[in-house]
Amino acid sequence: PLPPIEGNIEFKNVIFEYEKGRPALKGISLDVQPGQSIALVGHTGSGKSTIINLLSRFYDTTAGSIHIDGFDIRDVTVQSLRSQIGIVLQDTFIFSGSIRDNIRFGRLDATDEEVEAAAKAVDAHGFITKLPQGYETEVEERGNALSMGQRQLLSFARALLANPRILILDEATASIDTETELKIQEALKVLLKGRTSFIVAHRLSTIRNADNIVVLDHGEIKEQGSHEQL
Ligand code: ATP
Ligand code: MG
Repeated sequence: PLPPIEGNIEFKNVIFEYEKGRPALKGISLDVQPGQSIALVGHTGSGKSTIINLLSRFYDTTAGSIHIDGFDIRDVTVQSLRSQIGIVLQDTFIFSGSIRDNIRFGRLDATDEEVEAAAKAVDAHGFITKLPQGYETEVEERGNALSMGQRQLLSFARALLANPRILILDEATASIDTETELKIQEALKVLLKGRTSFIVAHRLSTIRNADNIVVLDHGEIKEQGSHEQL
């Protein structure tokens, strides 16, 4: 198993082919310090999701390797790896159950106080307590009673409670109003603090706040640097 980590991530000349002879990544090298945030940007098909898929070990590299705190991720159990990685996907998933259970998912031992503290930290407590049954309000799998922004905040609260060293975030593309946008940016800051994060970023504000922006183009790093540098 992977011991408790600091969160250093290194990609060493990573090549990946979903189909033989058609590399989706053509030699990616990256060294991310613990606590740093990386925004992955680039056109559709440039390889953003593939990087995330490899880091979470949904696939293994075709050549090259990925290391966390010096451990080759192929040498540790998938379970021990994933237990230290939080993944917030674009289609922020909600399951049928109470709001409380949705936040607690992945941290079943969390107390009510811990659930509410996480919701407060990402500023979701306000809208939750305005719901008819508050934290006990039942939501549907498709989460239709909740707005896109609310679902996003719930998924942030869930990730915050799980408290992983590494966070992967595939930012939602859905358009939201300015007020919600600001709220999500604030929540994101809280969530990212002190974690190494890989964000497939769509919003300019998210890109601007990242420590390092990695621009992908046809499976290669075209350029990288801070927002000021690029
Ligand atoms: P988007 O912005 O559209 O999400 P992306 O940057 O995430 O794009 P990837 O999904 O990483 O791009 O895809 C990189 C390349 O790999 C593309 O050429 C894509 O067609 C190919 N690809 C992605 N997933 C698969 C798959 N499951 N099987 C075969 N090829 C795939
Ligand atoms: Mg993608």
